[in-house]
Amino acid sequence: MKTLEQIQRNRRYQAEYHKKYDALYHQSQRDHYLTLKRLYHETHRKQEALARKKRYTRFPEESRSKSRLYTVLHPEINRAKAERRRARLAGTTISLTKEQWETIQAIHDFSCAYCGHKSHNLTQDHVIPLSKGGTHTAENVVPACKSCNSSKGAKLPEQFRLGRLSTLL
Ligand SMILES: [Zn+2]
Repeated sequence: MKTLEQIQRNRRYQAEYHKKYDALYHQSQRDHYLTLKRLYHETHRKQEALARKKRYTRFPEESRSKSRLYTVLHPEINRAKAERRRARLAGTTISLTKEQWETIQAIHDFSCAYCGHKSHNLTQDHVIPLSKGGTHTAENVVPACKSCNSSKGAKLPEQFRLGRLSTLL
């Protein structure tokens, strides 16, 4: 015969177990769903672009204001596009993907590579500036906060570091 305390403990254990199991289950379902979604995007690029175009012609004003809102909410997308455009104009190698950029930021713990400032609004800094022949590739891009990126400008990392040091000394 089980005591009341044993029964209660058993229930608590089961509740705990189910909570853990549910969380794991949902996570795996989510991963599965995201994989499917990604696969779909990869294989249906053309169809999706066509559908977007159709939507745009049918509801031009709504589509425009929606995309405006989207870019306001995701400023990093326009910034990434601008960097890519700059690289194209510089005529350099371009291979940095969105996924690589996300990984690079994660490796740097979502912090500026120069001052360590943590931010989810990091800019893409070309270690070797585009103007000095740097490429728009995963090897040459690090996350930088806005102020470091703009003060680094077209300097090479060493010049930038020395410049910063001299302001500290
Ligand atoms: Zn910084």
